[in-house]
Amino acid sequence: MNPQLQILIALQDILSLIREAKDPSQKRALGRMGFKMTNLEALEQTRENLEDQLSPAIRSQYARAKKRYGRIVAPVINGICYGCFVKIPSAIDTAEDRNQTLYRCENCGMFLFWVEK
Ligand SMILES: [Zn+2]
Repeated sequence: MNPQLQILIALQDILSLIREAKDPSQKRALGRMGFKMTNLEALEQTRENLEDQLSPAIRSQYARAKKRYGRIVAPVINGICYGCFVKIPSAIDTAEDRNQTLYRCENCGMFLFWVEK
């Protein structure tokens, strides 16, 4: 898988953990699971470290998607972008390098990844 894509997928996870850590109702549920809220700073630090590893061009596309949708990557399942539920051009959907090249959805702009069978 494209290394920048791996970073983006990790970032999406970190962003949702940060969101949950800040949400009071989620806080209790996470607390019951043993998740310590003092980890918020560590999460923010991890987010910054990962963002620093993105190339400048990808980082600005990432910032736009994050601001617009709160999400940055979407899986493609059966040829459909699960960011916006629009069909991906089949030339891209069936490309052999689909997880090696960083593709973005032409409709919503999210970075795409395919779950390989
Ligand atoms: Zn899309």
